[in-house]
Amino acid sequence: MDCLFCKIVEGSIPSRKVYEDEYVYAFEDIQPQAPVHLLVVPKKHIASLNEAAPEDAELLGRVALAAQRVAREAGLGDSGYRVINNVGKDAGQVVFHIHFHVLGGEKLGPLNAKN
Ligand code: AMP
Ligand code: ZN
Repeated sequence: MDCLFCKIVEGSIPSRKVYEDEYVYAFEDIQPQAPVHLLVVPKKHIASLNEAAPEDAELLGRVALAAQRVAREAGLGDSGYRVINNVGKDAGQVVFHIHFHVLGGEKLGPLNAKN
């Protein structure tokens, strides 16, 4: 599969891993947009939320809980953080393997949909 995040999950492209289990992989974003910027992905290839199916419900829950976990481990549990999932071209999705950004470590700007 010619997918950047599948290659990161399988280890053929290096990453700075912060968490891994049977279903989920999390790593540091290479171009951080905040003092903490992590990416959380399912190991299964799903191109975007648009392609997720009912049978992915449990897996997506695992990804959400892994986001909570890596945020807490990065020290953001009390200060808070933002979890972002870009879907498709108008949202600026660049990598078509579903991923949740975890951003924090500073007061984030308002989420005004335009940026
Ligand atoms: P998106 O725009 O939502 O598709 O986000 C893709 C994210 O992947 C961006 O924040 C990039 O900085 C990040 N990214 C791209 N290549 C890598 C890489 N090799 N390792 C870690 N993060 C990456
Ligand atoms: Zn993939």
